[in-house]
Amino acid sequence: MLNIVIFGAPGSGKGTQSERIIERYKLMHISTGDVLRDNIRRGTQLGQTAKQYIDKGQLIPDQLMIGILADVLDQNRQAAEHGVIFDGFPRTIPQAEALETMLAERGTAVSAVIGLEVPEQELIERILLRGKQTGRSDDNLETVQSRLQVYHNQTSPLREFYVGKGLYHPINGTGDIDEIFASIANVIDKL
Ligand code: ATP
Ligand code: MG
Repeated sequence: MLNIVIFGAPGSGKGTQSERIIERYKLMHISTGDVLRDNIRRGTQLGQTAKQYIDKGQLIPDQLMIGILADVLDQNRQAAEHGVIFDGFPRTIPQAEALETMLAERGTAVSAVIGLEVPEQELIERILLRGKQTGRSDDNLETVQSRLQVYHNQTSPLREFYVGKGLYHPINGTGDIDEIFASIANVIDKL
């Protein structure tokens, strides 16, 4: 089984590259952002809670998020038989530790972490453009600032966490989408 974490700041291209990865490697895509936005659209209790955090650019609390992820994994055992690409999870050290446990309980583990590295100015430009094109409510200048802050404080320490485990593969996330994918495939093919 191939379990890949796609890692990077908001706007680094995790969703875009995940689409290509699932196609080539027949993995199941779990995007926690998509799961939350789907709940917001359907007006569920979880969606109402999540919206309060997302609109402020904050993270959903770890215990809630970890529970959601366990549910998604359990509901998709069949689809996940070749493995999973985790997009947007883990975002904190406790989430990474929980992921380790959850995968171990299911007899598997993280195979690699693909880190999309993009300079901050470009992240902001991409997110503001996406906000204009899609109307995504958290893609505005004010929320972006707090998302980047949260990324630096809570998420970027995961880089060292996974470097320490020998799982981190940095990828230059700027330039042509196909070329970025080629560098990612080059890593995955060697796993
Ligand atoms: P990208 O642009 O690369 O797709 P993103 O950071 O813009 O990434 P999502 O991954 O879609 O966007 O997440 C959107 C929001 O959902 C986050 O800002 C956060 O509030 C919430 N969220 C998503 N995943 C998690 C998580 N693992 N833990 C806590 N909150 C999360
Ligand atoms: Mg995304």
